Amino acid sequence: MSQVNLTFTILGSGTSSGVPVPGCRCEVCQSHDPRNRRTRCSALLSYGNKNVLIDTATDLRQQVLREGLGRIDAVLFTHTHADHVNGIDDLRPFNSLSGEPIPIYGSPSCLGRLHRSFSYIFDDNPEPGYRPRLLPREIHGPFELFGQLVTPLPLHHGSGESLGYRLGPLAYLTDCHAIPAATEELLADIEVLVIDALRFRPHGTHFNIPQALEAAAHLGARRTFLTHLSHDVEHVRDSVQLPAGTEFAYDGLRLNLVLP
Ligand SMILES: [Zn+2]
Ligand SMILES: [Zn+2]
Ligand SMILES: [Zn+2]
Repeated sequence: MSQVNLTFTILGSGTSSGVPVPGCRCEVCQSHDPRNRRTRCSALLSYGNKNVLIDTATDLRQQVLREGLGRIDAVLFTHTHADHVNGIDDLRPFNSLSGEPIPIYGSPSCLGRLHRSFSYIFDDNPEPGYRPRLLPREIHGPFELFGQLVTPLPLHHGSGESLGYRLGPLAYLTDCHAIPAATEELLADIEVLVIDALRFRPHGTHFNIPQALEAAAHLGARRTFLTHLSHDVEHVRDSVQLPAGTEFAYDGLRLNLVLP
């Protein structure tokens, strides 16, 4: 079988408030380094002429304009916290461009919560008006998407669960504070790990940076990118504290990989 090129793009590398935080006058929030300006957490997988979005972050519109995206062929949802779903209405222009509904993938509980939060989109008899046309697809294990195997990765996130995703050599684990043993097995031989690392201080529902580094070392990832970053992280100042092979993610970061 021929190899397929995968381009992975960080659409947003910020925590739920985004960075700068409105009203904050700290060094990072006043920084002019574009790598310290973080929209809400989201990513894009592009392969075989398809664009697969991970989450519809609050800043989706800004992100797709920045990246010049002309199509979105599917969405993988990690969980339903507001920062990861509130851009869902901004999928509408992509329905118009393609003339097709967009399949959205998530755990059954995730899709149920989306339905309750955005009933105008999912109700059978919606009120008249504009809404994105979406096709909910429940995830019950690894599945094929546009010819590639996508492996969902259950993660602990506070008292709830989120899903990470693996595609070939790449795993994207946002919003987690622990990785279950069964999920660690699904991460064997991972090459590129993108992982939640909110800040240096501990937090109840997110890995902090030391914990994320420990998890990455345990999994043996060759390259690690820390994401879902708060305004506690200054890109240049704090990069010197990271071990070799580990970097802070930033909006617009792009990686070219090959799928088996
Ligand atoms: Zn989040
Ligand atoms: Zn700040
Ligand atoms: Zn969350």
